[in-house]
Amino acid sequence: MELDGVKQMIMTTGTPNVTDRGAAILCESAKAVKAVVNLPIQGQCEPPDDDIWFERMKEAGIDSLGMHLEVVTPEIRARMMPSKAEVPLERYMKAFDAAVSVFGHGEVSTYILAGLGDTVDEILFICDVLIHKGVYPFVVPFVPIIGTPLENHPSPTPQFMQSIFEPLGAMLKKAGLRSSDAKAGCAKCGACSALPSYEV
Ligand code: SF4
Repeated sequence: MELDGVKQMIMTTGTPNVTDRGAAILCESAKAVKAVVNLPIQGQCEPPDDDIWFERMKEAGIDSLGMHLEVVTPEIRARMMPSKAEVPLERYMKAFDAAVSVFGHGEVSTYILAGLGDTVDEILFICDVLIHKGVYPFVVPFVPIIGTPLENHPSPTPQFMQSIFEPLGAMLKKAGLRSSDAKAGCAKCGACSALPSYEV
């Protein structure tokens, strides 16, 4: 904060276990940061096994929470991320409701990677459900990384992204959900997607 003017911090976990799914280490880490500086923090984890973890994370100093769907249709979830797909969409939806009741409207978000097989309509449908819950759907174009199993998987076209962003931006505006209003998080950072510029 002193040297670089950092305004927010994002803490992500991977999946260190299949019980709290990273919530415990997020709590410890957020407490340690908040003991030193009052920096807004977004925690990112999969839905933990017990919703009590949302309250624990909030008490530990986490201001916003990201629980990332990545892809939204069950068949593609099972193919692209077989381990993560063991947490069903129904659990994510219940966890989003519980998390919004703790962190607040617009302070819970999810990352959706476009270009991995979900259609425009499938992505927009789930975004509509999420927006009605008060969850910000941060839709991001998939970008292949050299040396990973998907290094040869193409990115979506600009036309594909625009066909999502234009209606989604209008849906976000209508619902009063703005990335800049969140205390912290990927949508607030916005570096990985042009979506925030479609909110207006
Ligand atoms: S939007 Fe992208 S660059 Fe910004 S915090 Fe999230 S992953 Fe990192």
